Amino acid sequence: MNIELQCCALFIIISISVMFLREKKLDLMNRRLFFRAICACFVCLIFDILSIILINLTVHHGFDPFITRLVCRIYIMLLVLQGYFGYVYASTSLLPRDQTWAKWVRIISHSIFGTGEFLMLVLPIGYEAYGRVVYSYGPSTYVAYILSAIYILSTIVTVIAYRKDMPGRRIVAMLLWQGIWLLAAAIQFVKPDLLLVGFASSFGMVILYIQLENPSEFFDGSTGLFTTNALSAYVRDKYKFGKRFSMFTAKIHYLTNYVDYAMEQAAVMRTSRALIALGPEPAFRIDDDTFCVVYDDRERMFERAANIKKQKDGVTDLPAKGTYLLIPDSLELNGPDEFFHFLHTYLESEQEITVADEGLIRKLRDQNRIKELINDALNEDRVEVFYQPFYNVKEDRFNVAEALVRIRRENGDIVPPGEFIPVAEENGQIIPLGIRVFEKVCRFLSGGEAQKLGLEQIEINVSAAQFDFENPASFIFDNIEKYQVDPRSINIEITETAAAKNHEIMIRNMNRLIDRGVTFSLDDFGTGRSNIDYFVNMPVKIIKFDNSFTKGFFDNEKTKHVLTGMMDILHKMDMSIVAEGIETKEQVDAMEDLGVEFIQGFYFSRPVPEKDFLAFLRSRNQLSSS
Ligand code: C2E
Ligand code: MG
Ligand code: MG
Repeated sequence: MNIELQCCALFIIISISVMFLREKKLDLMNRRLFFRAICACFVCLIFDILSIILINLTVHHGFDPFITRLVCRIYIMLLVLQGYFGYVYASTSLLPRDQTWAKWVRIISHSIFGTGEFLMLVLPIGYEAYGRVVYSYGPSTYVAYILSAIYILSTIVTVIAYRKDMPGRRIVAMLLWQGIWLLAAAIQFVKPDLLLVGFASSFGMVILYIQLENPSEFFDGSTGLFTTNALSAYVRDKYKFGKRFSMFTAKIHYLTNYVDYAMEQAAVMRTSRALIALGPEPAFRIDDDTFCVVYDDRERMFERAANIKKQKDGVTDLPAKGTYLLIPDSLELNGPDEFFHFLHTYLESEQEITVADEGLIRKLRDQNRIKELINDALNEDRVEVFYQPFYNVKEDRFNVAEALVRIRRENGDIVPPGEFIPVAEENGQIIPLGIRVFEKVCRFLSGGEAQKLGLEQIEINVSAAQFDFENPASFIFDNIEKYQVDPRSINIEITETAAAKNHEIMIRNMNRLIDRGVTFSLDDFGTGRSNIDYFVNMPVKIIKFDNSFTKGFFDNEKTKHVLTGMMDILHKMDMSIVAEGIETKEQVDAMEDLGVEFIQGFYFSRPVPEKDFLAFLRSRNQLSSS
């Protein structure tokens, strides 16, 4: 009998099912749909074989035709079911969940399926067998042809329409699977003794299994945990189908260099075993030393996280600490992108326990908003530089100014740097932002107008991050050269934090610039992080007393003594002093009496745009020189 191919197909399907069922599973919608498709394929093959046997028995040996017709009907109904499951498998993760049109697509495809199955059950069906040729015919069979064609085409169209949302491998596997079906149906149509359709569908399952449903990148070989790729698929699946979940991550921070590879491996294995022992929920290794477990229930998550922390606290033979990130409610974050963004932002936190509560999520969103603000401002040239003049006490004129960055919103409002510099420093945007500021200042200086009005130097703020790599000086040199600016007209303000972060690289870069004529000043002096070491050993010529420090001079006797004493020390070291934050005539007089070289403050001018700054110089410098 012509059932050899079907028997082979059955063997293949059973093999895949065994492998699939034995494997460690991650509960993904696609996997469930795939398993449904395997089951449909299996039952369909059984009925395929059964129908061939019964047709032969009926035609050649007078078996009851009613039962044969029924089995033929069930076979073609199952064949269509298989096509339908194939379409559902392909489209469920692609079609949007919440859009009305997608809901209608689902309703229509269900209805077509239901109607088709009903028609196949009631419409007439016939069968024929001669030699190795066995087939069924009649209206019921034609409905099966039409529906199968509809589902194959719908699957192909859906895959092509959503090709941008899928990895290439998935597209190829899907198209290959449907293509094989089509090809087998065509061959069977031309050569009816080659019953290829059943074999083709099981072969299609093999392709899907190997390519899509058995992804080795989901398993971490050394620990037996799931991987980051698996977490990504899992979390996206949960969000897509609106399932709430909770999660905790645990990260091992080694406290000394004394920890070697073997100790690290032992710690990783110990953690993995502890996580697996916690319960049936899937545990992931998302980085060399970072793990997470996903729960459906937040209370359980808290309890299990506490359990793991207790176990870690009990480990005394390893110089390491654990940090934990808890996400009690996934739906507080508005999708997988925000979820992973959150993870990315706070995973490295040194804090022992970080909880994704409302406040932290709001902070994340604020930072994101600011990130976009900076990006848009950079792209649309809305980064502006304002200038604030310093009063030179000895020369009684304004020959130095500080460049202070501003962002202008689309509606014309100004955003002060306090709102975006800290975020830019954290996320690295300070680099392009700093380059833009530097370029604008150089362009301004290259105009030469300010110099004609008595300006000799502009001070530019540079953050720690801008000096934290080997050759940051190049953007400074590039602009100096591009705009033909005299390097001596540039002074860079650094802070102690900048100086402390990577002292050696910092000093190297400073000296490189100093050789070309650029000078440096130390900003924010007196803000509580002052360390005598820094200004003693740093090649700076100017110290800037921070607003708070000078304010303290007027409000607090002790600060007054410290500031007066510092003045003395700094002058003995041949340094000049800028007093920041001077707002009244009395303060100006007090600073002059104290002997500072420069006074910066709202009393003289707030930071203002280029044009206003030039107007200021024009009126004040000419006035004082006349
Ligand atoms: P900073 O370098 O210490 O700048 C002095 C700050 O004091 C400026 O604030 C200035 O407007 C303010 N100020 C000046 N005189 C007075 C006064 O009399 N009273 C009061 N209340 N404030 C006064 P601004 O412009 O908001 O800048 C804040 C900080 O942002 C700067 O502090 C600096 O650390 C940072 N910053 C500004 N521009 C840049 C930049 O281009 N790059 C980097 N990396 N940081 C920048
Ligand atoms: Mg400054
Ligand atoms: Mg300052």
